[in-house]
Amino acid sequence: MTTVLLHSCCAPCSAAILEWLQDNNYATTIFFYNPNIFPQEEYLRRKEEIVRYAAQIGVPIVDYDDSDWDAEHACWKEGLCHLASEPERGARCLECFRYRLLRAAQYASQNGFDCFTTTLASSRWKDLNQIIAAGNWAASQYPDGATFWDRNWRKGGLYERRNELAKQFYNQQYCGCEYSMKNNK
Ligand code: SF4
Repeated sequence: MTTVLLHSCCAPCSAAILEWLQDNNYATTIFFYNPNIFPQEEYLRRKEEIVRYAAQIGVPIVDYDDSDWDAEHACWKEGLCHLASEPERGARCLECFRYRLLRAAQYASQNGFDCFTTTLASSRWKDLNQIIAAGNWAASQYPDGATFWDRNWRKGGLYERRNELAKQFYNQQYCGCEYSMKNNK
């Protein structure tokens, strides 16, 4: 059975993908690593939703940045703050994808997964090409490790199913970081 590490950005973007992976007999582990989310209350709210859902459907979840949100977010911001004025789908978002998927690639490679993929690509607000580029770049940092599965998770009815299943969750009103929060006010 193929082992998949699924980087999850939130429950609404994950549910349909998880359903498909279960229906198609993949051995899936959810990987929550999103130090971009601001403020901490929002971060915890999104995380609690996916932790609860993982327990509900019986899929293991790795809560990677559990220990120190302040330090993790400060580190993320330090790496990307020079791109603060970039629009969404611009250079800051590419760096944000690389930042998170590098950690997923590392974890997948060090823990013997066949591949890793991400729910980031399930939203039509994200640039699929950026996500694929970021995933392939992250995998290239671990040449003997897990490969990046660049499946388009919007196709095959999955986008429609995503929107159907998303109704049961808390649905956030902005992408995640403080810059995207400002853009939506
Ligand atoms: S808008 Fe979203 S993808 Fe872009 S940097 Fe902010 S949190 Fe990351």
